[in-house]
Amino acid sequence: MTSFSSRQTLLIDADDTLWENNIYFERAIADFISFLNHRAYTPEQVREVLNDVERDCIVRHGYGLHSFAHALVDTFERLAVEPLTPGLHQTVVGFAHAIAEHPIEIIAGVPETLAYLRDRHHLIVMTKGNITEQSGKVERSGLKPYFSAVEIVAEKDEPTYRSIADKYGLAADMTWMVGNSPKSDINPALAAGLNAVFVPHDNTWVLEHEAVAEPASGAKLLVVESFAALRGHF
Ligand SMILES: [Mg+2]
Repeated sequence: MTSFSSRQTLLIDADDTLWENNIYFERAIADFISFLNHRAYTPEQVREVLNDVERDCIVRHGYGLHSFAHALVDTFERLAVEPLTPGLHQTVVGFAHAIAEHPIEIIAGVPETLAYLRDRHHLIVMTKGNITEQSGKVERSGLKPYFSAVEIVAEKDEPTYRSIADKYGLAADMTWMVGNSPKSDINPALAAGLNAVFVPHDNTWVLEHEAVAEPASGAKLLVVESFAALRGHF
């Protein structure tokens, strides 16, 4: 097994890597689709419309609950036969806001693994989304003390990874992005010349689905079955 005993920097994703996130969105979407109860569109067809609307909303409003609430409202307006009354608007937005009320559910093995890694390596949380929502989750998770810094970014693309590496003076060959999303965590980090650890999650947001890229020459890619399995490598 490959093992990296010298001090490395681990940039660690949060949603669906440290704690559950997408399952709450999936529940909200299921509730929304039941509520819409469309006569002509199947639930799968409604979901396809919502996915398209969400892509547009991300461009306009970024990631987060505010954007998701817009996507539900826009989808309702596109598909519902009846007009969107204030009461219906409140119900639809309520499906999104219910997500904020879930307590943080930490993924099994995460705190122990962070405690182990922190003594050996340099750990930074790197999450994308709304600053207030993401920093609130980091605080409520109780995991913040394991990290030397928290980076909340608007998008995780190649330039973002390069700028974070510059900001902290990180050597690419000793820096790893750890996360569940090929699209946001693995592929852009590899494109920026960093190493990456893919920790697949069974319930990854459909808009994050992408094939894992081949690492650029010299960069390393590990795939582990769980966050706790990082212990076997670092
Ligand atoms: Mg994630």
